[in-house]
Amino acid sequence: TKQRFAGRTAIITGAGSGIGRATAIQMASEGANIALFDLVNDRTSIVERKLNSMREGCALAVDVDTSDPGRMEEAVRRTVEHFGGLDIVFANAGINGSIGPIEELSIEDWQRTLSVNLTGTFLSLKYTIPHMKKKGKGSIIITSSINGNRRFASFGFSPYSTTKAGQVAFAKMAALELAKFKVRVNVISPGAIATNIDESTEPNEELESIIIPMEFPEGQQPLADGPGKPEDVAKLVCFLASDESSHITGAQIVIDGAESLL
Ligand code: NAD
Repeated sequence: TKQRFAGRTAIITGAGSGIGRATAIQMASEGANIALFDLVNDRTSIVERKLNSMREGCALAVDVDTSDPGRMEEAVRRTVEHFGGLDIVFANAGINGSIGPIEELSIEDWQRTLSVNLTGTFLSLKYTIPHMKKKGKGSIIITSSINGNRRFASFGFSPYSTTKAGQVAFAKMAALELAKFKVRVNVISPGAIATNIDESTEPNEELESIIIPMEFPEGQQPLADGPGKPEDVAKLVCFLASDESSHITGAQIVIDGAESLL
């Protein structure tokens, strides 16, 4: 394997599952040290053990809610102290949150989704940027979704779609702001990917009867028989994290097997 990340340190949020986990495995196999930011759960320790068995000491699981400013500041400080620097940030943690008609959603439903998906992304940049500025180099990748700017057909996802569109604007502002420090910021918009994301849908029995379940219609992704794989997305993230994409910043890259063209 190529070693594009030898001697580099990455923070990956939502690293315990799905896209974050696949990216952690790929990046570590190419030499990166990785801080796995996720809520406390067994899945994150399993990823940590897997990476450390590939290369002893390359992974550190950090139990942190990305929407909590105090915990995030501390988690970033701990990471930089542990690995001695920071080169890559993959702001990827996200939830579906509450799904339903706008008039049925509570203010708490709305705020929870905004707080994890938008505030969590803001904090993931806020506390890490100073370390990359200091190095005069860095790469940040944010996970949005085609649900944020194209595929609005999934009924009831208004909070989620709003956050996913917001992440695109935020990434572009950040790219402009950080260009003079040679810190690149790009945003990826995956289509349906086979992960555990549906577990992050807030259960709501009352709404279930009126919600059209989000099934994955056959042939929805012209390039694949079903949803894409987390490993497909990991390859894109690693490209954007590496020097191979040295002139790419402020870009939104769709990775959806042409799903959003249907
Ligand atoms: P996933 O549920 O498999 O993984 C997400 C991880 O984020 C989980 O381990 C979860 O514990 C963690 N997480 C959730 N809230 C957190 C918080 N507040 N603090 C720390 N960690 C938290 O889902 P995934 O599909 O891998 O999702 C990753 C990103 O991809 C999300 O931003 C999601 O919106 C986006 N996305 C997913 C799809 C898809 O179809 N799976 C499509 C487009 C975009």
